[in-house]
Parts: sequence; structure tokens; C-alpha cells
Amino acid sequence: MLMKFSDIIGQDEIINKLIRSVKEERVSHAQVFAGPEGCGKLALAIAFAQYVSCENRQGNDSCGVCPSCIKYSKLIHPDLHFVFPVINRGSGETVCDNFISEWRDFVNKSAYFRLNSWLEQIGVKNQQGLIYASEAGEIIKKLSLKTYESDFKIMIIWIPERMHHATANKLLKLIEEPPDKTLFLLVSEEPDLILPTILSRCQFVRIPAISRQALKDHIKTQYNLDERKSDMIAHLSQGNYLRAIEFIDENESRKVNLTSFIELMRLAYKKDIPFLAEWSEEIATRGREGQKGFLSFSLSQLRENYILNITGGNDKLVFLEGSEAEFAKKFRYYINNKNISDLDKEFSSAYSHIAANGNPKIIFLDLALKVSGLIQ
Ligand SMILES: [Zn+2]
Repeated sequence: MLMKFSDIIGQDEIINKLIRSVKEERVSHAQVFAGPEGCGKLALAIAFAQYVSCENRQGNDSCGVCPSCIKYSKLIHPDLHFVFPVINRGSGETVCDNFISEWRDFVNKSAYFRLNSWLEQIGVKNQQGLIYASEAGEIIKKLSLKTYESDFKIMIIWIPERMHHATANKLLKLIEEPPDKTLFLLVSEEPDLILPTILSRCQFVRIPAISRQALKDHIKTQYNLDERKSDMIAHLSQGNYLRAIEFIDENESRKVNLTSFIELMRLAYKKDIPFLAEWSEEIATRGREGQKGFLSFSLSQLRENYILNITGGNDKLVFLEGSEAEFAKKFRYYINNKNISDLDKEFSSAYSHIAANGNPKIIFLDLALKVSGLIQ
């Protein structure tokens, strides 16, 4: 994954400041990139490091093709070092280098992620991820080497607030008397938890949430959303790219669920038993979470259609997305006082049976047949 400034979502103002600092040769040797979740602070730190190391900077970005950029694209540049929270796996010293290939693979997928996702990746169950005391020796060792290929040795410390105090104290000494040609980039979500003596010796770069416009433009092209939807999601996620992705995923599963729901209702109305059996088989292949998701989606669709029916189509009282509302125009007449409570009961009981690890093929076929008896 190449991380150029042009791959960053928004943050033009910060990027321009960083570029200027390089052009004017006043890059501060220790900087804290602090910002809220999902603003892209780690991505920015990597893009900045890549820009600083690039052998052939193009105007306002790294070139992406020089030997340095190529190594950056795999995060294997010998002068680029990472420190990040890890866990004790029970044998030998706990240092980041034991996790470095997992880290590279993970960050290469996307430089936007939460601490928890990383910890899940390395198999954390009930432990806290930490930067251990044993890391201090590693940091000193790496920085005492001379640079291999770049002008700078760059040490990106992700979530320094998770650092053991012994490591923090050694780091403080390094920041006070930095080895030659060293750049520390501390990427923090809660800078208040960093040792104040470290903080006061770093240049503080406050990274804001992504602007609504930049986030909207990005998700619109990246996920092929329409104008209204991309604007709504950008607004709801408040500049947090990770939240935006979650909204988009929800949106995707809503579409899939609606298709299955419509199919079930059509087949049930036609009393098409062979196809209802096929329909149940298909739903049964989804994971249990997906099956539960479908059932709760269906329950809400039934309720909304019922309300629409008894209020004579008053859509101010219901929450239906575009294609759901379209389907409800005709479908609502089929959900009425005679069947709503039985339908509700059948979908709810299918939900509890799925949640209790029942056999999905049997549960969904049974549900499909019951629905067929209830939709007239
Ligand atoms: Zn380059």
C-alpha cells in the first residue's frame, strides 16, 4: 500500500503545513500527531515519513516510485521503525519486532483502524495492549545505528499513551538529546495520557476530524454512493472515517436483507413451496449474525408496513429507506390487524431459535411455510 499525501482523506491544511516544514528545512525532530478516532493520524504520519525519505519529491508529494518509496509501500524501509502496543505471548521478551510482519500486513490493508482491531488481530482476549519496558532497549539500539539509506531515521510510535513508564523515561532522554538525524512521530489519540515532560518537548500537531466535504467526496467515489446518501453518512460520522465505513456496511447489509425479505414475501404469497425451500437454504448459508440481522430487519419492516397500512400511508411515522419505501407502497396492504401479531411472533421465535444455535435450515423453512399461511 502506497501512502502518499494524495491518499489521505482530507486534511489539506495539515498536509500543507507538513510540506512547508520540509521545504523550509525546519522539521522538528519530535512531533506528536494527536487527533480523534478515524481522522487518519497514522496514515498522515506514514505519508509524512515517506515524503521526508523520498529521493525524488514531486512538488507537494512523494514520488511513489523511487527505491525509498517502494520500500515504504511495503513498510520495510530500513530507516523506518515502528513501536506499537502488543501483548505478552508468554515466551521471551515482549518487543514489537516479534509482531512486525503482522503489523506490516495489517497496516498495509488500511492505515485507518482502531487500537481494538489491531489487538484482535494479534489475538488479545482479556489483556491490555502495551508498549513494554523491554521496548526501550530496542528503541535505543535502533536509533544508535547510523542511517542506512535515508537522511533520517524515523521512529513512528503509535499510541504512546500505552507506553510503560520505564520506556517513557528512556524515550524522554532520547527526545532531550536526540541522536543525529532522528525524527520521532508520536501518533496519539489521548495526548493527555502522555508523560507531560515528553509532551512539552515535542511539537504538537493537532489533527482535526476529517471535514464533512472531504469525507463525503471520498466515500461517494470509493463506495459509489449517491449524493444524498454520501452526504448523510458524512454528516452522521462526524469526520470519523471508521464510523463512515460502519454506516456503509450497515447500508449494504440492509440492501441484501431487503432483497431476501421481498423474495420471501412474494414466494409466500404465491405459496411456492419448492422455491420457499430454496430460499431457506440460501438464508441458512449466511453466518448466524447475518441470519439474526435478517430477522430483526424483517421484524422492523413488518412493523413499519403495518403502521403505514393503518395510518393510510402516512410516511412521516415510519423509517424506510428509498427502495424499502418503494416496496411498501403495495406491500403494506398485506400487513394488517389479522396477521401482524402472528407474523411478529413467528419472526421473533425464529430469532430466539437461531440465537440459541438451532438448525438454520429447519428454522427458516418452518418460518417460510408459516409466513406463507399468514400472507393472503
Ligand atoms: Zn519517492
